This record gives sequence, C-alpha cells and structure tokens, in this order.
Amino acid sequence: MSETASKKRSEKLGDKNDLRIKAIENGTVIDHITPGQALTVLNILRVSESFTNTVSVVMNAGGSRGDKDVVKIEGRELTEKEVDAISLISPKATVNIIRDFEVVQKRKINKPDTVCGIVKCINPNCITNSSEPIETRFIVTDDEKVKSLVLRCVFCESVMTEDLIKYIE
Ligand SMILES: [Zn+2]
Repeated sequence: MSETASKKRSEKLGDKNDLRIKAIENGTVIDHITPGQALTVLNILRVSESFTNTVSVVMNAGGSRGDKDVVKIEGRELTEKEVDAISLISPKATVNIIRDFEVVQKRKINKPDTVCGIVKCINPNCITNSSEPIETRFIVTDDEKVKSLVLRCVFCESVMTEDLIKYIE
C-alpha cells in the first residue's frame, strides 16, 4: 500500500473508531496490543465481572484480520508490575495515561531486564513454589531462534518461553 493510501485508510478507520469507542475522561488506553492478547491484558489488570468502571476492548482493530488490539480502561492507571506483565505478551504495546480527556503521558513499553512477582515458575519444585515467602524473579532475554522472550528463573534456572502467558500470576 502507498503511503497516501494507507494514510487515507487510517483516517477512514479513525472516523469509524470514534463511533466504536467514546473518549475517556480519566484512565488508561493500552494501544498496539498484539492481536488476540486484549483478554490476557484484562486478566493482568484483574478486570472481571466485579470491576465496575467502563472498559472498552477492541480486538483485531483495522480489519477482519486486524493488526492490533486496544484496551481502554476508565479511572485506572497501571502499576509498574502491570506494565512489565503486559510487555511480556505485547512488546509493542503503548500505554497512554488520560487525564481530563487529554493524553498526559504516552509511553512505549520496554522489555524489562528482570520480572519479579509476575510469572510463576514452571518448576513445581522451585523454592518460589514452596511455602517460603519468596517472590519469583526471572532474567528476561530475547531469543532470535524462537522469536519469543525467554525467562530464566534465578532460583532454579528453569527456562520458560512461549507458554509463559499461562504462568502470569
Ligand atoms: Zn524457579
């Protein structure tokens, strides 16, 4: 697609998106979520039926096959831990803080070097899975071969890759 055509297309989509989602007054817009991962993001943010604020979810924005998911959450800003957890499943996501209808902060998510207390260790015999009050800690690296993040437990050296979504606490 040429640059002009793609610009026209995104303008058109912009109009349509306005109909789909109202602007929010205060809260957070998580944009450029990997397609299909919006529900995992809601899980990370502990959004369930008991959550009473307005939450808008767009999956596969930009057409039937879509190139991103978007989550808008009213009256809620994200903790560092939540941002780190999202980075593990959606490394290209951006977090926009909205106050009084204005974007006051827009940040790209960076892959953290370590993640603590976010992912459960895959090894049932790991000390973090015992009754000891020890928080999980993993070193995060990229693996070009498997094209996914690799987490290595600092306590038991267990390595976790593509299945790590299942282990987010
Ligand atoms: Zn471990």
